[in-house]
Amino acid sequence: MIRIPKSIYQRMIEHAQKDAPLECCGILGGKEKTVERAFELQNMEGSSIRYLMSPQEQLRVFEEMEKESIEMLAIYHSHPHTIPFPSETDVRMSFYPEVSSIIISLKEEKSPAVKAFKIDEDAIYPEEIELI
Ligand SMILES: [Zn+2]
Repeated sequence: MIRIPKSIYQRMIEHAQKDAPLECCGILGGKEKTVERAFELQNMEGSSIRYLMSPQEQLRVFEEMEKESIEMLAIYHSHPHTIPFPSETDVRMSFYPEVSSIIISLKEEKSPAVKAFKIDEDAIYPEEIELI
């Protein structure tokens, strides 16, 4: 389970809508499964079906989180045209099994869907999101 403040939840959806039709990506940091900060990153792939976080930006976010004594709780990205479920690429490119993968789907334009998962080498576990 991961707890996300409503304002951050809303901001992730807006980030996805802003970057559509390309996938967006970002990092959520916090403590004890409770998100406190959201960091928008650039999708270096500039693609509508995959994303790649910039290593420099990622490093900057890691430094900032360390300064604030928070840890990376989730990596989020959007699916502009498909359902909120990890793609084969998402599973292959998932390097943090302990961190939640959040997917924002804009498939239903009027009602974006946000889902969380834990992705281990070859298994996908749905995770509950609690809005706070
Ligand atoms: Zn994906």
